[in-house]
Amino acid sequence: MSAGGGHFDTLRELRDHIGDCHRCGLGDTRTCLVFGVGRPDAEALFIGEAPGRNEDLEGEPFVGAAGKLLDELLGSAGLTRADVYIANILKCRPPGNRDPEPNEIETCTPFLEEQIRLIDPEVIVTLGKFATQYILETTVGITQLRGRRHEVDGRAVLPIFHPAAALYDQTKRQVLFDDFQRLGVLLTQERERRAERARLVDEGRVADRTSGEVHHVPEPHQESLF
Ligand code: URA
Repeated sequence: MSAGGGHFDTLRELRDHIGDCHRCGLGDTRTCLVFGVGRPDAEALFIGEAPGRNEDLEGEPFVGAAGKLLDELLGSAGLTRADVYIANILKCRPPGNRDPEPNEIETCTPFLEEQIRLIDPEVIVTLGKFATQYILETTVGITQLRGRRHEVDGRAVLPIFHPAAALYDQTKRQVLFDDFQRLGVLLTQERERRAERARLVDEGRVADRTSGEVHHVPEPHQESLF
């Protein structure tokens, strides 16, 4: 999918194109547009729901309490924010942190699709229901989907609980830490897959995966990681 009619060469160009966005009503109520942050060539792209109050004020994703937990989780997998990229389904805060509305998701996600294309991560980690259901194009609940490798257009997707849901729930918190161990395993596997694929492409035995588009498969393929 192209963002507003164009493909961009860099995240900077895409950010400039989005500008002082008023493509949906959230432009009237937000403070800062939260584009995303991290390595432009990250192996892991984390996708949350939408900026909350702190993110709206600071212009950066996951800087509040859920962000602190995300930092801890990253640390448990030997990662820091600087190693990954973090974005959201919506780039502007819905008033009172209400759920994203379908028209807002439709308006905003072409920019996320372009971020996915430019970053080209090995693994997309979807945080919570909205990101997971959008990326996997499903209405299945996060509890059934989390912790397993899914695949969209040849790319691995790992759905996990949203860190905010685990702030006051010890059981979910433990599940999140377990799923970050899975992420470590998955990243190693995906690196190996990519290396093997590059070798086969080199030998002319298969075509390159990337067509420049992110497609969704109707029935996501699931695999256990252990
Ligand atoms: N929750 C999200 O989903 N995203 C943020 O950036 C912050 C909190």
